[in-house]
Amino acid sequence: MNKPLILAVEDDAPIRNLISTTLKTNDYRYQLASNGKEAILAVSTQNPDIVLLDLGLPDMDGVEVIRTIRSWSNLPIIVISARSEERDKIEALDAGADDYLTKPFSVEELLARIRTTQRRLSYMTSEMLTAGSVFENGKLRVDYAGGCAYLDGQELHLTPIEFKLLCLLSRNVGKVLTHTFITQNIWGQSWDSNMASLRVFMATLRKKLEPTPDSPQYIQTHIGVGYRMVRVE
Ligand code: CA
Repeated sequence: MNKPLILAVEDDAPIRNLISTTLKTNDYRYQLASNGKEAILAVSTQNPDIVLLDLGLPDMDGVEVIRTIRSWSNLPIIVISARSEERDKIEALDAGADDYLTKPFSVEELLARIRTTQRRLSYMTSEMLTAGSVFENGKLRVDYAGGCAYLDGQELHLTPIEFKLLCLLSRNVGKVLTHTFITQNIWGQSWDSNMASLRVFMATLRKKLEPTPDSPQYIQTHIGVGYRMVRVE
């Protein structure tokens, strides 16, 4: 597979240089933008495979940039935010970002996020080819049409909400889903009581799904943000 073209949007020159040097030394193709307008123009004209997007841009709100891109494109967006921008990060994920990096980040973290996104891209491509009525990940198998799931060949006895939760996470494998996104999808609204229910259902789902629930393999917790199902080799 060709190395993907990565568009890095960052107004802070030292961080932009760190990103471009990292991408260059790891044989990625890349393009740079230093504000929101340049970013939107580059997405529409260069057709990048992945966007790295700083949320604090001089000309427009990063979340606005995501909403604009999402009006015509599903390409993966990894947001980069400062620790003080926790709310913006959640808003960015709700607006359609796929993943996030918090400043300061290491070169290894940056590369790991890009690799995760590449795996998600190749999974989505193969999913489109196979029509995707069955999902497989490690020892987990979800039969969407049949309404059942298996772990290591054994059927999992899931409640309807646990199954719905598992489907939502697996259909978005590799992507961080916020609490609001999940509760809206499962219950149709995101009241505080649903946030509490989500924690309970996630715990019971993990008990059935994870061989060692204390160190989960399939579903990661992002404290204060949400959950993500990861690809298991
Ligand atoms: Ca910035």
